[in-house]
Amino acid sequence: MKYYFLNNYLEIPQIKSLSEEDRFAVSVVGSVLPFKVNSYVIDELINWKEVPNDPMFTLTFPRKEMLQKEHYEAVEKLIKDGADHQMVKEVSNSIRDDLNPHPAGQLDFNVPVLNNKKIDGLQHKYRETVLCFPNEGQTCHTYCTFCFRWPQFIGIKDLRFATEEAQKMADYLAVQEGVTDVLFTGGDPMVMSAEKLATYLKAISTERHNHITNIRIGTKVLSYWPYRFLTDNDSDDLLKLFAEISDSGKHLSLMVHMNHYRELETEAVQRAVVRIKDAGVVIRTQSPILKNINDSPEVWVELWKRQVQMGMIPYYMFVPRDTGAQHYFSLPLVETWEIFRKAYQNVSGLCRTVRGPSMSCIPGKIQILGVCNVKNRKAIAMRMIQGRNPDWIHKPFFAEYDEKAVWISELKPAFGEKRFFFEKELDLIFQGKLTDYSSSSYE
Ligand SMILES: *Cc1c(COP(=O)(O)O)cnc(C)c1O
Ligand code: SF4
Repeated sequence: MKYYFLNNYLEIPQIKSLSEEDRFAVSVVGSVLPFKVNSYVIDELINWKEVPNDPMFTLTFPRKEMLQKEHYEAVEKLIKDGADHQMVKEVSNSIRDDLNPHPAGQLDFNVPVLNNKKIDGLQHKYRETVLCFPNEGQTCHTYCTFCFRWPQFIGIKDLRFATEEAQKMADYLAVQEGVTDVLFTGGDPMVMSAEKLATYLKAISTERHNHITNIRIGTKVLSYWPYRFLTDNDSDDLLKLFAEISDSGKHLSLMVHMNHYRELETEAVQRAVVRIKDAGVVIRTQSPILKNINDSPEVWVELWKRQVQMGMIPYYMFVPRDTGAQHYFSLPLVETWEIFRKAYQNVSGLCRTVRGPSMSCIPGKIQILGVCNVKNRKAIAMRMIQGRNPDWIHKPFFAEYDEKAVWISELKPAFGEKRFFFEKELDLIFQGKLTDYSSSSYE
């Protein structure tokens, strides 16, 4: 397998299918947003006859419209004028700062504390589930252009989450009796060797961790490098490790990111799915809804149907976060809900395990339930699938109808209310007057 970055992408054999302008755009946009693509994506996923509008191309290659016009022009001018590397870097960094690199308070709000020390590399936002960012898993085989984790990939060191030691994580989890789930995420934890992954998995599989019954691994590897489960040096060790965990009585789930049914079509992915399931692992799937990639009900119907047929469980449809190239990928929430609804209507109940469309924001995961008419006034009904305070979960609430809004921050409470029902408590949490799961006083 070969990787391509900004410095060698012109060596991609198929790159000549792109116009000169589109080729140049890769270097402009790729200076700001991360860019990395492997030969599997290039040879087996992208349909080069359809570029630049091919969904797999748009998913992985920077395109001009992904930057705001003024940002694009600023970088374009520097590159055309032959500015030095340092200059381009400074301008890129300042543009990045404008792109809300830390949506939903990723960096500050959810880091847990044990014995008055922050445990970097963990996030504990919801009662039952702790997120773990293994240090060695903070990259991916290919980068997605919509990725909200993009600041982790551009080498600004202090922006990275990292778990130095699996042990620290294990110590924290040992005393969190309320935690049932650990979710390994990244980047992509499946870039780690089987041996590294085993270190993390075994650290949380001791007697002190009997309350942890579910282990999830969030990954895009099935789509970007299915040979991870087939022909890598340690593929067999990896599957043995999976089988060991599931045989030990814990539930092991791969939370697979999959944006388009094209990702399910290669022979490699189909063989990989069989091997993973044979190891006793359940595959659940998730994806944001993205303009220019999967913004039609037909794509979702096909995606969910094929997933179920192959033995996977559709789990989440997300709304793209307010970061990076959001303007390029976002659809109005109302439109997103229409697409979800049309797709949901056209599949059987086995596909309707999917939950969404959902916004992961500071208070929780907010699901758009739909547009309703109350006394001849339109409103948008929502509820929380997950909440920083568990008491908020599953309480319907309403926003004023707004056909343009793309994110919760653009919605206003309906029926003359000043604030959404959870906002006062959210303030108290951040003032330290109410505890949540990332605070030291949580017991
Ligand atoms: C989505 C999410 C979880 C898991 O929530 P489930 O509803 O159990 O899938 C855990 N932590 C964070 C920060 C999340 O965003
Ligand atoms: S695989 Fe996930 S973490 Fe990696 S670039 Fe894509 S969205 Fe981001």
